[in-house]
Amino acid sequence: MQITLSQYAGFCEGVDRAYNMIKKIALDPKVKKPIFVLGALVHNEDVVKSLEKLSVVTISDKKDFFKEINTLKGRIGTLAITAHGMGPKIYNFAKKKKIALVDTTCPRVIKAQRLAKLFSEKNYQLVIVGEKGHKEVEGIFEWGNKKAKFVEKEADFKKLKLDPKKKIAVLSQTTQNQEFVRHAWDVLRKKYPQVEIVDTLCLTTQNRQNEVRKKALKNDAVVVIGSPTSANSTRLWEISQEINQKSYFIERRNQLRKSWFKDCQKIWVTAGASTPTWIIEEVMEYLGRSN
Ligand code: SF4
Repeated sequence: MQITLSQYAGFCEGVDRAYNMIKKIALDPKVKKPIFVLGALVHNEDVVKSLEKLSVVTISDKKDFFKEINTLKGRIGTLAITAHGMGPKIYNFAKKKKIALVDTTCPRVIKAQRLAKLFSEKNYQLVIVGEKGHKEVEGIFEWGNKKAKFVEKEADFKKLKLDPKKKIAVLSQTTQNQEFVRHAWDVLRKKYPQVEIVDTLCLTTQNRQNEVRKKALKNDAVVVIGSPTSANSTRLWEISQEINQKSYFIERRNQLRKSWFKDCQKIWVTAGASTPTWIIEEVMEYLGRSN
């Protein structure tokens, strides 16, 4: 059995940068502790636990951050924004409450945020191709003055009502499926010829998605390692599954089943942008041993 690993598997530049920034400040005696990270820095329990040992505490993405911060009151040393970024409210809030804030927002997300702000200030009708409720998208939405409309699936095009006489701008979630985003651009261009489109897709994500499209065709089975809460990992698996029925989405090595690879000669493994190296190594080692 031939087992190969994606050239892009694991942390992307944005997550790697955020993780290293947090680790660096956690070890810096001048930075006030504990550091409360607003949401999952990396979608992995082991990473979260290892950071806890350095007084880095994660506030769950499922919680209302502002409510949580208020309940923590004076116990916060420093607040940290993850690579996904957040809206302007948190920056104003931290300033008002005099809480130190460390911002690890990925520069590619910052680009989308700045554009949302700019278009909103210029009175454009803004459309975001992305998942409503996703942290990165919510941040971009907030920078756009909470006026943007969302397109996430085919059915949303019908529901989308824009004034054809006014200016329209389109941005997208950095980790969206590029095929759907390009399709959205075509649909919107046809309906609203004046539309201005800015490509805010992340190149790293696009490379990963292009690779999975090719490899899912050429291999007998595909394993995607990542958390179900990670948008880019989920997207990789969705793309793979459309092409190859033997596509499996796992978070940990112990979820692998030997029966999945019966009659398989070639297995290809990839991992989402927030999957730590050691999890990937565990999976590769296990697959190699079962060979
Ligand atoms: S997937 Fe792209 S946009 Fe998102 S954090 Fe990584 S590098 Fe940045």
